[in-house]
Amino acid sequence: MVSNETFKGSFTQQEPIPDEAIAAAVAVLRSGRLHRYNVEPGKLGETAMLERDYARWQGATYCLAVASGGQAMQIALRAAGVAPNDPVLTNSFTLAPVPGAIHAVGARPVLVEIDENLLIDMTDLATKAERSGAKFLLLSHMRGHLCDMDRLMDIADAHGLVVIEDCAHTMAARWNGKRSGNFGLAGCFSTQTYKHINSGEGGFLTSDDPDFIARATILSGSYMLYERHGAGPAPAHYDVPRYEMANMSARMDELRAAILRPQLATLEENAKRWNARYDAVAQELEGSNEIVLPRRLDGEFMVGSSIQFRLPDRDAASCRDFVGRAAARGVELKWFGAAEPTGFTSSHAHWHYAERQSLPNTDRVLATLFDMRLPLTFSLEDCHLIGRIIRDVAGDPLP
Ligand SMILES: *Cc1c(COP(=O)(O)O)cnc(C)c1O
Repeated sequence: MVSNETFKGSFTQQEPIPDEAIAAAVAVLRSGRLHRYNVEPGKLGETAMLERDYARWQGATYCLAVASGGQAMQIALRAAGVAPNDPVLTNSFTLAPVPGAIHAVGARPVLVEIDENLLIDMTDLATKAERSGAKFLLLSHMRGHLCDMDRLMDIADAHGLVVIEDCAHTMAARWNGKRSGNFGLAGCFSTQTYKHINSGEGGFLTSDDPDFIARATILSGSYMLYERHGAGPAPAHYDVPRYEMANMSARMDELRAAILRPQLATLEENAKRWNARYDAVAQELEGSNEIVLPRRLDGEFMVGSSIQFRLPDRDAASCRDFVGRAAARGVELKWFGAAEPTGFTSSHAHWHYAERQSLPNTDRVLATLFDMRLPLTFSLEDCHLIGRIIRDVAGDPLP
């Protein structure tokens, strides 16, 4: 019975932008004032209000809205003081904009192994911090998997590492009740279509450090209009950076900010809706002898906007075959073991701009690792069906 089921939904279909956000966007368009600093005297623009609202929501003192998650990371690295040729530690399992941000500031990514639960390997982190002399860690909570953040911060402190968190997949996630992004010097977020709030493109940088955020604000291209920021530090913090930091023009605009602001109201609720979908798929996969789900730690409150699993006993040909069979049944899987980068999915071996590094544990995990998006347009029934199809396809004997 199960073997004929096919899924008809789209893995790239997000929910519509809420009516309130559309109305706010139309108001911005009617005003003609789309640039964030093009505001009437004495008024706070949409971008400034978004920064204020997001800082409050996140529980961070400051928030800077920028053009993308990648720009948030790049600006964070520069504002933190990363200089050309500096080694910067980062997870070996992440999305290409992470090593891309390190490369963009002229620094060298030093890739840290992951374990089979897709979390950064703390022993390898300590070893590589020691060996490379790195002073920065760009910690990517890739696909929303949070490591033991208490232990991570202990290791970072012991090695004098400045931590910048890549929270592209952990907006609204928490470790022991504390929001992801609030552990290190800064949190970097993306509001790109496939993340947790949607403005097409966009990003945030959050921090409690007024001098850091002042540097970041000048870097983002504030044209000395930094006093118009909703969640910026006192003007005195700009006295030095206004002369020393370059303008990298990576601002957010009023239209995207208008679309984003109303979405904050449903973010917490959406996290639960994502988790219900994750749990529905996971429930179907858990009974399988073939499929291994990463173990989630007790302290983690995740946002299950995607799901990952491994078929540890498969070789490459069998993994490719599995993806093809799932696709034939309407289930779109990404495979991290592919020889070529495809779409959003690539692995460290494809990043030729970074120094080649030996990462045997990561390679072993990625070789049989699969990934699937869970848009909120899927119903719980859809998720159960998808889970059944995956299980069925994984159990099929090879021809
Ligand atoms: C999407 C993503 C980013 C940054 O996204 P932008 O497309 O630059 O907004 C950063 N890290 C990870 C892990 C991501 O998936």
